[in-house]
Amino acid sequence: MVNRKRLLATFLQLVQIDSPSFREREVADFVQNVLAELSLHVFEDQAARRINGQAGNLYARWPGTGAGPAILFCVHLDTVEPGRRVKPQVREGVVYGGGRTVLGADDKAGIAAVIEALRVIRERDLSTPPVELVFTVAEEQGLIGAKHLEAGLITAGYGFVLDSDGPPGKIIIRAPSQDRIVATVWGQAAHAGINPEAGINAIQAAARGIAGLRLGRIDEETTANIGVIQGGVATNIVPERVTVEGETRSLDDGKRAALTAEIRRLFTEGVESAGGRVEFEVEQLYPSFRLAPEDPVVQIAVRAAARVGLEPRLGQSGGGSDANILNALGVPTANLSCGMQKVHTTEEFIVIEDLVKSTELVLEIIKGV
Ligand SMILES: [Zn+2]
Repeated sequence: MVNRKRLLATFLQLVQIDSPSFREREVADFVQNVLAELSLHVFEDQAARRINGQAGNLYARWPGTGAGPAILFCVHLDTVEPGRRVKPQVREGVVYGGGRTVLGADDKAGIAAVIEALRVIRERDLSTPPVELVFTVAEEQGLIGAKHLEAGLITAGYGFVLDSDGPPGKIIIRAPSQDRIVATVWGQAAHAGINPEAGINAIQAAARGIAGLRLGRIDEETTANIGVIQGGVATNIVPERVTVEGETRSLDDGKRAALTAEIRRLFTEGVESAGGRVEFEVEQLYPSFRLAPEDPVVQIAVRAAARVGLEPRLGQSGGGSDANILNALGVPTANLSCGMQKVHTTEEFIVIEDLVKSTELVLEIIKGV
């Protein structure tokens, strides 16, 4: 039922629209026009103003003909850098980004799949439950658009985010929460040659703080990282200030909170042992979610995948997606893979057959509820 040619054309159009986070106006307008052609009313929320971006989150509702609770599909409009002036290349059934940029199948494969599924429903006049669509902005910057969703506009009983990598059939049912940590270490500046006795070396203090931390994989569901360190001015100055940025993640919110607290304590002890002082900031970027294999939303995806000839694979993710936010809003939501591969690199690609299968899966989920 899926019109492969039309699907691929839509996907190629989408990836050629520049859409870095906070600069999603053009792609939002494109999606809005497509939905208007399908006679859908589109509502754009106030997120643009709140996050200082060009576009807000888009909401649309396909009224459907059958009964049953509405079903939600959520995809994101923004892409990562380098992602401007993408020149997609199609070779032997695979679409690449042209080498200089990402392809942007993350998440335009999801957008194209949702659009094509709706076009099929419309032209075949299929009987379906109501379908709610949400297109978020600034997802790649920490789910910022989703965090500004107007929860009252979402009534769906089940949700599916199309934003996991790999061939279709993977169903993410668990994902971690994440804390972002920013520690500012203060020492005392002094001339390194004339009067080093008066100085407190903030770099050395930060090093002592970091040296005592447990980092990397803590257990099978918990990780920690220090990823950025910046500070110092010149070799002849005892450095006064260093900033250290890191993160903790866990599928278990309690473990994440405990690990963040441990990092704070050990880091502070290490810095203070070197005479330094710490300002420690923690921000929880998003909550975790956990669905059970027998949950209806998971079973809907499993059955639909099997019906279109895909092997359903339940899995967990090491990263957050809009599904974390939707679950927290009370809509049980799984994150489905939609074909994109090697995402966030200039080698990103998608196998066209995987894009087609992803679309068939969306269609089957809608038909099968
Ligand atoms: Zn994505």
